[in-house]
Amino acid sequence: MDIPMINLKAQYKTTKKDIMKNLTEVLSEQRLILGKYCKTLEEKISSYVGVPHAISCANGTDALILSLMALDIRDGDEVITTPFTFFATASSIALMGAKPVFVDIKEDDLNIDPELIARAITKKTKAVIVVHLFGKLCNIEEIIKICNHYNIPVIEDMAQSLGAGREGIKAGGFGDIAALSFYPTKNLGGIGEGGMVLTKRDDLGIKVRKLRVHGMGDTTYHHELIGINSRLDEIKAAALVAKLPYLEKWNKKRIKNARFYNRHLKGLPVILPQIPRDGSHIFHHYVIRTKNRDGLQSFLKQKGIQTGIYYPVPLHLQDCFKYLGYKNGSFPVSEVAARTSLAIPVFPELKKAEKQYIVEMIKLYFHKISS
Ligand SMILES: *Cc1c(COP(=O)(O)O)cnc(C)c1O
Repeated sequence: MDIPMINLKAQYKTTKKDIMKNLTEVLSEQRLILGKYCKTLEEKISSYVGVPHAISCANGTDALILSLMALDIRDGDEVITTPFTFFATASSIALMGAKPVFVDIKEDDLNIDPELIARAITKKTKAVIVVHLFGKLCNIEEIIKICNHYNIPVIEDMAQSLGAGREGIKAGGFGDIAALSFYPTKNLGGIGEGGMVLTKRDDLGIKVRKLRVHGMGDTTYHHELIGINSRLDEIKAAALVAKLPYLEKWNKKRIKNARFYNRHLKGLPVILPQIPRDGSHIFHHYVIRTKNRDGLQSFLKQKGIQTGIYYPVPLHLQDCFKYLGYKNGSFPVSEVAARTSLAIPVFPELKKAEKQYIVEMIKLYFHKISS
């Protein structure tokens, strides 16, 4: 068997008709930038997540940068975040001239530890970026309590968590502002790069809408702010509008796949992810942890099963962040997670026989090394 980490061709089979219909329309109309599909996508995602403002942009990294720009993050400011995430979560802070301040994650779900946020807050702290890693909501309620107390805005990096929710609130609807990515491999993936900023705050929504188009207000070529060019192409928006109706079903299948794995991998010397019943984990990735990670990965590769390591180097140990002065041992939970985490295929189109094969091969590996 040959099992990829994600099967975009299978996804395309499901969505091709819908996508093609919309693309043909855009191309024949030739309204290629900020047309009706951009507007529709923004409206649909704003109502899906339950926030009044949704502003599409070029990619998820820009969505983070636009969020930080809207909050006036600049030179000398500190922004607290997790070192166990994709690079852009922290690079966006540094690109604004501000200082990323890392705090460690919790062992149970690998998300940022609220208590450590509280301890890292200083007079210079101007924002906190939380990540709902692998599709699992972090302890956002607790974090918002802490940040409200100090009047510090919370940015949600929801690149991996569109659709995850708890008690009626979805990722992107908790904090002051949120950054979403439509990178092709995300739970709602586009036909290229894409992103979106979500916010319930009118001041920030109005500002991001300007910042996305060079800081222009309602009058063309009059610039109120120094913005950037970060528009989402209309053809990409049209494809995303075609795919959005599938998102809930896809997320449910991911959860179902995760349940299958948890049932069948029980008893092995691996830490399995917890599967909350309330929909607060939508399994962008299904990540197991084992000290035999590298051995397991190469064994599965031999057996035709692709896996992924998210993330092999925690951000505080990246070369480019050496100037921040962290060292090996600064964030032990993140460092262990980086050494032990392995993501196995969990994409919605995964077939039962493929899941069974993956389980069998994982069992076989542990059987081999223990005998
Ligand atoms: C994918 C991702 C991003 C960046 O999104 P792009 O669209 O690739 O720029 C940011 N943060 C996290 C956690 C991500 O997974």
